[in-house]
Amino acid sequence: MEKLIFNFKSKDVRKLKKPKNILGGKGANLAEMGRLGLPVPPGFIISTRVCHLFYENKKKLNTKLIKQINKELYLIERDTKKKFGDLKNPLLISVRSGARVSMPGMMDTILNLGLNDQTVEGLAEKTGNPRFAKDSYRRFIQMYSSVVLGLESYNFEELIENYKLTKGVLLDTELEESDWDNLISDFKNIVKQKTKKEFPQNVNDQLIGAISAVFLSWESQRAKVYRKLNQIPSDWGTAVNVQSMVFGNMGEDCATGVVFTRNPSNGENEIYGEYLINAQGEDVVAGTRTPQHITKKARINSKVEQLSMEEAMPSVFSQLKKILSKLEKHYKDMQDVEFTVENKILWMLQTRSGKRTAKSAVKIAVDMVKEKLISKKIAVMRLDPNSLDTLLHPTLDEKENINVIARGLPASPGASSGKVVFNSDEAERLNAMMQNTILVRIETSPEDIHGMHAAKGILTARGGMTSHAAVVARGMGRPCVSGSSEIEIDYENKIFKTKNKTIKEGDLITIDGSTGRIILGEVKTVKPEISGDFSKIMSWADTYRKLRVRTNSETPIDSKIGRDFGAEGIGLCRTEHMFFDEERILSVREMILSKSNKDRANALNKLLPHQKKDFFEIFKIMKGLPVTVRLLDPPLHEFLPKSEKEIDDVAKSLKLTKNEILSRITELHEQNPMLGHRGCRLAISFPEIYQMQCRAIFEALIDLKIKKIKSAFPEIMIPLVSTEAEIKIMKDLVITTARTVQNDYNTKIDFLVGTMIELPRAAIKADDIAKHAEFFSFGTNDLTQTTFGISRDDSGKFLNDYIENKIFDIDPFISIDDGVGDLIKIASEKGKKQNKKIKLGICGEHGGDPKSIHLCSKIGLNYVSCSPYRVPIARLAAAQAELKKKF
Ligand code: PEP
Ligand code: MG
Repeated sequence: MEKLIFNFKSKDVRKLKKPKNILGGKGANLAEMGRLGLPVPPGFIISTRVCHLFYENKKKLNTKLIKQINKELYLIERDTKKKFGDLKNPLLISVRSGARVSMPGMMDTILNLGLNDQTVEGLAEKTGNPRFAKDSYRRFIQMYSSVVLGLESYNFEELIENYKLTKGVLLDTELEESDWDNLISDFKNIVKQKTKKEFPQNVNDQLIGAISAVFLSWESQRAKVYRKLNQIPSDWGTAVNVQSMVFGNMGEDCATGVVFTRNPSNGENEIYGEYLINAQGEDVVAGTRTPQHITKKARINSKVEQLSMEEAMPSVFSQLKKILSKLEKHYKDMQDVEFTVENKILWMLQTRSGKRTAKSAVKIAVDMVKEKLISKKIAVMRLDPNSLDTLLHPTLDEKENINVIARGLPASPGASSGKVVFNSDEAERLNAMMQNTILVRIETSPEDIHGMHAAKGILTARGGMTSHAAVVARGMGRPCVSGSSEIEIDYENKIFKTKNKTIKEGDLITIDGSTGRIILGEVKTVKPEISGDFSKIMSWADTYRKLRVRTNSETPIDSKIGRDFGAEGIGLCRTEHMFFDEERILSVREMILSKSNKDRANALNKLLPHQKKDFFEIFKIMKGLPVTVRLLDPPLHEFLPKSEKEIDDVAKSLKLTKNEILSRITELHEQNPMLGHRGCRLAISFPEIYQMQCRAIFEALIDLKIKKIKSAFPEIMIPLVSTEAEIKIMKDLVITTARTVQNDYNTKIDFLVGTMIELPRAAIKADDIAKHAEFFSFGTNDLTQTTFGISRDDSGKFLNDYIENKIFDIDPFISIDDGVGDLIKIASEKGKKQNKKIKLGICGEHGGDPKSIHLCSKIGLNYVSCSPYRVPIARLAAAQAELKKKF
């Protein structure tokens, strides 16, 4: 029979091949820490498999499982010499989620479970600390009510805040036993009022309720959003960890904290973290109290007086330090650890590989190679290619006028400017209107995940470096300044105040998550470079990869950025994008709308010098490298004049009346422009368009030759081919034009002619097409569109429903679908069979997506091509794809 529940100490844990898949990350690591001899409170893991069974069984735990859970609970009772629900010596437990990968704050946790009106008295007596017992009970009611009973936690927070006001105290720690008694009674009243039921007193019911709630939180809105953003499959499910409680809130010799073995923000090799005396775990992460530093050095650096853990609890600190070093050596990675100190005794509650900024990830990987902890290969494998994005985006230009109005903690690096918004929905609304925002919150909660994603930056008034805002922002690569005590937020009036300024909703500010500065107005940014550790790790990656990486670019600026980031040529130069320029668009419209060959030739003649100049510049920048120039592929609707003025301008130029232009537009109207008169179909009707473009390419090459400037090597690419005859006609056209230009200038020109494979027929008939093509470049945007028959321009409206209904795990326009992948494979094989030397590449958006790059590597393409800023990401992903084959 399949084992579904695992004690931390069980030998079966060690037999599992992929323990995290079954036990979840948290459970697997708790068991591992126990095995290493570290102090871990006893407990057990309900496996991810049960999560599936739970959903299959109409969201209920079956009786067999409940029996097994009770058996395991008995083992905890035996270990702790306490009894669940006992009136004199009650066992309290925590119930926590634990998915395969950590999803900080996205799923639910319940602490202090096992308390009721009677056991709380037993706990008070047993510990001799009634204040602590009552504090724990009110925490339990609060958490259970919000997680299991679905009551908003502000109901309870408000009661506490009002109570403190009436009593004239500031901190929770100033409340006494009797105060908590009063609050517990108020809490229970609220539960009764809102749920029409008493707060559950039966501890077994509490346990089943809590476990079910954790499973249910796997499908909560915020968990779904997080999974979507992080490409986590929904069928992984979560495990549940049930563990004996240890208490950080029993008095001044108790504490709880979070600590990283290295700095998660900049990667420095020093332990880094926060703790709170007399508190429970959620107080640190929730940001309700601003925590203290772990080390003396960190406290002094941030000019804080409250003692660090190193100073306040020196012997526990030194024990913790030893454990951290042991954990890092064992896991060979930076760890993020949660601990609790109960009456001077240290307990480890969690270890996991720590979330870190891209900057920190790069430094840690390079440092660990230097420390001989890991190999270069592992260092390359360990970086998340997508996270490099943050290193590739601009930082503040310090030469600019910078008006710092307040400061906070540098929680997630990078700088961004935007309009101030005070809630997540508004951030999302403005984002949809292409407006940049900075989300300003007192503290963020998991419900803010969509707003944090929509905003360009996050600013919070409360919470430390490990607060929800900081952790999630780092994971997303959003700049974040957290815990700024210098700002005062007033949600009601939609303002925040600094010492000297009042900022309203909609005002522009800039935040610098690398330094913690909050700046008035917008600040210019500067382009980053690949240098130092980043360049080192990229050079290691380059030694492992076989796939070449090119960039998609049609401007000199982008070509230069791409080349600086390591592009080995251009994989797609979309020539129609060169036509959007204001000066040229009129000639393009003339070309499209002209009725006679003469008018068209005129328009083309006007365009020729522009095109030639563009190619000249790009070929110069890409000297020595291949440049794939795709001939015109315009879905016509993108170019037709729309406004009165645009129509007037073309009419004047073509010496036609406005009505003639309007009727020509009607004539050209297409029901499905994406499937219409575009790509090579246009050149079948009007070959002179491609002739002009080829001439521009060849004349640019000749100009460079005359000026003795080294040039790129052109690869001329025909779009939207589906038949052998099309590519044959097009190839003849290119070669004939080349001959003419060669004769005109009496010089030889070298180039290749190839085609895009972006239609299913082309993929299936690739052997025929390869007879006339020297290369294939997979246009996976159109190939995805035409394979599924899903319009790439309209899919945004319904793809979310497809993901919700688990039809797609991920948007197929982001990561190549395996059906489309099969077409690429078929085309590659058939192409190679026909023409052994055929060059294979990809130039759709997928060329910059790590998952798709793995597929391209598996199929054996020669290169991928992506936007300039994704070039380093693709270089790293290509190396990982190669290394993965050997691991
Ligand atoms: C493609 O279809 O994948 C492609 C690269 O061409 P475009 O996006 O310009 O249609
Ligand atoms: Mg295309």
